[in-house]
Amino acid sequence: MQLTFLGTASAQPSSTRSHSSLALRLGGDVWLFDCGEGTQRQLQRSVVKMGRIEKIFITHLHGDHVFGVAPLLAGILNGAGGTADGEEDPREFLDVNNPVLEIYGPLGTRSYVRSSFTHTYTLLSCPYVVHELRMPGDPKTGDFTNVRRHRAESPSGRNIQQVDGVWKDIFQNDTVSVSAAPIFHSVPCIGYVVNEPTIPGKIDPKKYIPELRRTGTPMSVMSQLQQGGSVELSDGTVLHGPARRPGRKLVILGDTHDPSPIEPLALDADLLVHEATNAHLPDVDDRTKATDTFESIEARTKSRGHSTPQMAGAFAKRIRAKQLVLNHFSSKYAGDDDVNRDSKAIMDTIGGLAAEVYGKEVICARDLMSVTISVPPET
Ligand SMILES: [Zn+2]
Ligand SMILES: [Zn+2]
Repeated sequence: MQLTFLGTASAQPSSTRSHSSLALRLGGDVWLFDCGEGTQRQLQRSVVKMGRIEKIFITHLHGDHVFGVAPLLAGILNGAGGTADGEEDPREFLDVNNPVLEIYGPLGTRSYVRSSFTHTYTLLSCPYVVHELRMPGDPKTGDFTNVRRHRAESPSGRNIQQVDGVWKDIFQNDTVSVSAAPIFHSVPCIGYVVNEPTIPGKIDPKKYIPELRRTGTPMSVMSQLQQGGSVELSDGTVLHGPARRPGRKLVILGDTHDPSPIEPLALDADLLVHEATNAHLPDVDDRTKATDTFESIEARTKSRGHSTPQMAGAFAKRIRAKQLVLNHFSSKYAGDDDVNRDSKAIMDTIGGLAAEVYGKEVICARDLMSVTISVPPET
């Protein structure tokens, strides 16, 4: 499991930060979380393979998180070009029953993507589907648009309703599941939780092999024990495999000034990605106004639906996150802190403010930075 931050800017991109997007690599597959303007170019500059993108999860429909969706899909699904003078384009006769790319997002995502393709005459050679996570006040059915379904859009898009305030297991396979919950921002916004099922514990063959030999049990039962199962031997002895361990949990939040509704799903996350749009940095940022205080900056940040580093640190502590990565920084905070001392002083201070509350070291994301989420060592 590896996360690559493709863009880490809030509202305005800068020469050192692109708009929001991050890529999660799971084995060979790639899932994107948000897809702001410029995501396609950032992918080309990164270690992430664009053709491996299977799913895109949208946190909310603010432009800095979705303006890159249509160009990216056109890039992946062969949407460029067209034919003139009534020539037939095979993309007009697409079988949409097996969409190769899934998009998840709040109400309006389907309409936004559909309108983008329709009004730009974009044809795609592979189908896509949009599943919407509907809030309690949203219409339960329908597409939220009068624009007819695009030729490449599969009609199998689900409208997923909340149960007990969350969207549990919106996607699930043998190796991973995704759940989601609303988080508070200035517009409807979603946080996502990627969860592995339990994983096998570490097996000590010395504990089992003599017993298997003694009773003439085939060694093939070792695989059953490795999975945490139990095996009864010919003399009635029962061997129990090592207890299975919780899998990794990754929590990716969209913009927020209060993510508390996702707390029950997010507890004990191995990694939390939390925004930190603004901070009060009187010692390192000479643009700080004399009238600014920590309280005034926090109040202004919250009023716009965003968080300070301290707010991010407090939430990470509350959910007992093992690691915290901050992203979505104001364009004031340049992302060249790997090569620029002034930027480093600012980003170190932002990380330090979150760490003071969180109680552990904090990473401030930089564009194209990757973070690996390892399987925690057995205790
Ligand atoms: Zn944003
Ligand atoms: Zn926003």
